[in-house]
Amino acid sequence: MLSYGRQSISAEDVAAVAAVLAGDWLTTGPAVDQFEAALSQLAGGLPVVTTTSGTAALHVAYAAIGLGPGDEVVTTPMTFVATASAASLFGAKIVFADIEPDSGLIDPAAVAASVTGRTKAITAVDYAGQPADYEALRPVAQSVGAVLLADAAHAIGGSDRGRPVGGLADVTAFSFFPTKNITSGEGGAVVCRDPALARRAREFHNIGLVRDPERFRLADQGPWHQEVQAFGLNYRLSDIACALGLSQLNRLAAFKRRRGQIVARYNAALGELPSVATPPLRPGVDPVWHLYPLRVLEGRRRQVYERLRADGIGVQVNYLPVYWHPVYADQGYRRGLCPQAEAFYAQELSLPLHPGLSDDQVDQVVEAVAEALR
Ligand SMILES: *Cc1c(COP(=O)(O)O)cnc(C)c1O
Repeated sequence: MLSYGRQSISAEDVAAVAAVLAGDWLTTGPAVDQFEAALSQLAGGLPVVTTTSGTAALHVAYAAIGLGPGDEVVTTPMTFVATASAASLFGAKIVFADIEPDSGLIDPAAVAASVTGRTKAITAVDYAGQPADYEALRPVAQSVGAVLLADAAHAIGGSDRGRPVGGLADVTAFSFFPTKNITSGEGGAVVCRDPALARRAREFHNIGLVRDPERFRLADQGPWHQEVQAFGLNYRLSDIACALGLSQLNRLAAFKRRRGQIVARYNAALGELPSVATPPLRPGVDPVWHLYPLRVLEGRRRQVYERLRADGIGVQVNYLPVYWHPVYADQGYRRGLCPQAEAFYAQELSLPLHPGLSDDQVDQVVEAVAEALR
């Protein structure tokens, strides 16, 4: 099976992990600090907290902004469920704003029509690897005092008008799942513009433990003392995982180049075919393409999906509109809520895209698509 996404692990990656295994710190050690420092550098110098997954990163982000019952989060339905579900766990109401028809990115005009005085966060998703339009979303967030959050699980390494992903929103969440742009096995990270938010994120990801004597509410316990003032979870990423992540970060520029070449090859060949639409690129964006979201028109997506799968080509569909998941349907969200997202879902087909794909394999995928449409 030609997989739709997979990790690329080099001898250097293996050596970096082996060195940690042979050392003193399997977790809470120097590799964590090094990975966080390198991610911070990539994100324009903002503070970074690593987490055990992208889902954990979103959970930490929503905890850090103090999300709770009565709050609303405006987000896109064209995403992995965790973008919304991590907020629902805090009792917040999710308000789905529709997408732009071609890019799959949240539509700033739809967001502007969805915000209220209760909107605590606007969470955009950098679908397929291109950053959402944060320049357009920022004034909307400011108009209601909401935090602008980026689910950048797809997008690490990209930029918009020269500004790096990680520095485009108030808070950014990354994922290092094996199919993403870089991997640490499982893993994620949160970037916060506001240092107070970064501190809350760090404490929530470490059980809520406060270690700064200046802030202790229990006085005179002794030098061993640490205390909990707000609940948290253990979302710490290990040194083993951070060593892999750090080594992968060194390869991100090469991954970006190869992913871009594959997308250009798909665009050139598939642009010639009838009944399909290739993904557009927002002006000013320099993406690391995570997905290749082809759209198959005229109701033929399922036919193409089944034909490619039968040929051993691991295509995927990204994504089921989030509010179609039974957990949201049970809360009363109805079909038809976001027509553009539903139309996009009906046509979308993610073709194989990862740095290990050869040009021959890309051509084989294109040929299979052409065959399926013949
Ligand atoms: C992968 C992904 C997540 C979750 O990340 P995990 O590391 O798998 O928990 C969240 N949002 C989006 C858009 C993703 O693609």
